[in-house]
Amino acid sequence: MDSREIINAYATSISEYVLIASFFYIICYKIFSYALKASKIQKKDLNSGDIRREITNSLLSTFVMSLIIVTVITTDLVKYTQWYTDINEHSLWWIPAVFIMGLIIHDTYFYWLHRLLHIKSIFKYAHLTHHKSTNPTPYASYSFHFLEAIGEALIVPIIIVLLPFHPISLFLFLVSSLLINAYGHLGYEIAPRWFRGSFLFTILTTSTYHNLHHSKFKGNYGLYFRFWDKMLGTESANYENVYDEIQNRRFPS
Ligand SMILES: [Zn+2]
Ligand SMILES: [Zn+2]
Repeated sequence: MDSREIINAYATSISEYVLIASFFYIICYKIFSYALKASKIQKKDLNSGDIRREITNSLLSTFVMSLIIVTVITTDLVKYTQWYTDINEHSLWWIPAVFIMGLIIHDTYFYWLHRLLHIKSIFKYAHLTHHKSTNPTPYASYSFHFLEAIGEALIVPIIIVLLPFHPISLFLFLVSSLLINAYGHLGYEIAPRWFRGSFLFTILTTSTYHNLHHSKFKGNYGLYFRFWDKMLGTESANYENVYDEIQNRRFPS
């Protein structure tokens, strides 16, 4: 394994994290903070110490994640995966198809890993770091203890073993995951009004959904979809009421 590959992968991950988290942060907390007042999920103010901690933890987590990804795709371990770099090796349809299938697999993996991390004896060693953000900002997207970062990063070897992944698919997967994560930790509900009445509301999580997990420390374990929480009865009972309260504040009729 070449150290330059790790440095490149780490530089790319950090850039994506800083760009995406800062974009959301500057828009919501700086430029439009007054205009978005009604969209703020929790009323309490931010603590600059929280943001510093979220960024420091995320920089460590992105290193762990980059190291795991580079180790798998640049060593003999790649033989056990379906990673390919020649774009003609599979139909072009595979590029978007596997990225979407990857997100579905990731949601299931995340739900069960998350449930495991909430077992009392494990929680304080691996997941408490993430839950120190009770009022999260987009910078909390990768704010993990390094043990949790290892668990979170293992989704990449899993999906590239299960599905033929090209670097473009992996890039789409990682960037989409980070964008959805930044929205989940935004601290603001920005979903449009029509979303509540659509089928999508019944299947997708929202920023309010994950914010409730951070403020209550339990329930709403899913990442992208409500499927597992609904199926296993772990969804917060007051989720839809809290969501409606925020949207009614944003869109008074
Ligand atoms: Zn949790
Ligand atoms: Zn979180």
